[in-house]
Amino acid sequence: MLKTDTLIIGGGLAGLAAGGALEGRKDYLIAEKENRPGGLAATIKKGGYHFDFSGHLLHLRWPETRKLILGALKGNARELKRDARVYAHKSWTPYPFQANLSGMPDKVKSECVSGFLKAYAAGGRTPGDGSEVFSRWTRRVFGEGISRHFMLPYNAKLWQYPLERLTTEWCAPFVPMPRPEDVLQGAYGGKAEGLGYNTVFHYPKRGGIGSLANAMARGLGGLRLGLEVESLNLGKGVANVRHFGPVHFRRLVNTSPLDELIARAVDAPAAVRRAAAALRHNTVYVLNLGVKGASSQMHWGYFPGADFPFYRAGIATNFSASLAPRGCSSFYIELATPGSALDLASAEAAAIKGLKACGLIGSASQVTEKLWLKIPCAYVVYNRERARALPVIFGWLKSRKARSIGRYGAWKYSFMEESVKEGLEAAREILAGR
Ligand SMILES: Cc1cc2nc3c(=O)[nH]c(=O)nc-3n(C[C@H](O)[C@H](O)[C@H](O)COP(=O)(O)OP(=O)(O)OC[C@H]3O[C@@H](n4cnc5c(N)ncnc54)[C@H](O)[C@@H]3O)c2cc1C
Repeated sequence: MLKTDTLIIGGGLAGLAAGGALEGRKDYLIAEKENRPGGLAATIKKGGYHFDFSGHLLHLRWPETRKLILGALKGNARELKRDARVYAHKSWTPYPFQANLSGMPDKVKSECVSGFLKAYAAGGRTPGDGSEVFSRWTRRVFGEGISRHFMLPYNAKLWQYPLERLTTEWCAPFVPMPRPEDVLQGAYGGKAEGLGYNTVFHYPKRGGIGSLANAMARGLGGLRLGLEVESLNLGKGVANVRHFGPVHFRRLVNTSPLDELIARAVDAPAAVRRAAAALRHNTVYVLNLGVKGASSQMHWGYFPGADFPFYRAGIATNFSASLAPRGCSSFYIELATPGSALDLASAEAAAIKGLKACGLIGSASQVTEKLWLKIPCAYVVYNRERARALPVIFGWLKSRKARSIGRYGAWKYSFMEESVKEGLEAAREILAGR
C-alpha cells in the first residue's frame, strides 16, 4: 500500500506545474495514465516529423508563469508574430474576420460593415457574460453580416452544439471586439493589426510543444507514468490505480476531465453525479500531414464554410522548421464532432480536397506522411446546465478538500499558461496548509 500527502491525477501541464512547486517541499505523487508526460501539450514523432495535438502556441500573459515556462525551455523558444487568416467565399482575408474584411467580395463586405454599424448604433457592445446565448449575442454585437458569414458557421463547426443554447462566458478573452474605425479600416483601408489575444506567441525552436512538458517533468521525483486512477473514494482518501493497487492520500488535485472524476468517485452523492452527467464537450480529431513542396507562410487559417469539413488548419513548420525533414512542411487540420466517431478515410479525402481548394497544397501527391490524433474531450460546452452543475460539483469537492484544476478539471475554455498557473496556485495553497 502506497501513501502520499498529495495525489495529483494527471501529468499534463497543470499536474506538472503543481508537482514542480511541491518538489522537495511536500510528499506528492502524480499518477499519469499515458506513458509520456504533457497531456494535450505533447508531441508525437513519426517518419521524421514532430506532430503536436494541433497547434499548441504559448500565449504568455502573466509574469510568474512566463518566467517558469521560458525558464523551463532554457532558450529553446522563439517569439513569433501571428499570421492567421480566414478562408471564406473562395478568398483569404486576415484574421480576425470582423476587423479584416478587405479580402471579401464587395457584397459580403458591405453586408458585414453595414450590419456592424447598425448593431453598434443600437448599443450592442457588451462582452459575453453568460446571460445571453451565442446566436443572439453575436447578432447583437457584430450584426447580421459578420454573424452570417463567419461567427455562426465557424462556431457551429467548432462547438458542435446548438448556438441557440451555447452561452457566452467564454467569449470575452477569445472573440476580438473591434471598434467601428477598425472595421472600416479593415474593410476599406489596410489590415487591422493587433486584435485578439494571440497577436504574438512563443513556440519551442526544437522538439514541438512536448519539449516544454518534458522540461517541466525533468527532476520530478513524484511523477509516475502509466498509472491510471480507475476509482477513488474521496471521503476515505484512497484511489485505486490500475496495475498498481490502492494509493492513500490526504489531499487530491485532479486535472482529469471533471465528469470522469465524478464518474470514478464511488462516494459522490447522487446530486453530484446528476450534475456531472449534464456536462457536455465536443471531440476533436487532428489530421497531421507531412507535405512536400508547400509554400504558404501562414501560421493557421479559419474555415467557416460548409464545403470544408475542418474548422481550422495550420502549418506547424511555420512556427518551427525543425518539426519536419528538410524541404517538407507539417500541416495540422482540426475536425470536430459532438462526440461521435469520424469516418477517418472519408474525412481525410475531404480534408485534402479542402487544402487543394484553398490553395494550401497543389496536389494530393504532395502528402507523404499522416497521423490522426483524437482529443475525446476537447472543448467543454458552455451552456446553462454547466452553469448550474459546476457549483454543485465544486461544492462537494471542496467539502472533501479536493481541488480540480486545469482546462478539464476546472471544465473551462483555457490555455496552457492558465493550467500552469492553476497548478502553481494549488501547490501554494497546499504548502500553506489550506
Ligand atoms: C484543439 C486544441 C488546441 C489547443 N491549442 C492551444 C494553444 O494553441 N495554446 C494553448 O495555450 N492552449 C491550447 N489548447 C489548450 C491546452 O491543450 C490545454 O489548456 C492544456 O494543455 C491543458 O493542460 P491540463 O494539464 O490542464 O490538461 P491535460 O493536458 O488534459 O492533462 C490531463 C492529464 O490527465 C491524464 N489523465 C486523465 N485521466 C486520468 C486518470 N484517470 N488517471 C491518470 N491520469 C489521467 C491525461 O492523460 C492527461 O495527461 C488547445 C486545446 C485543444 C483541444
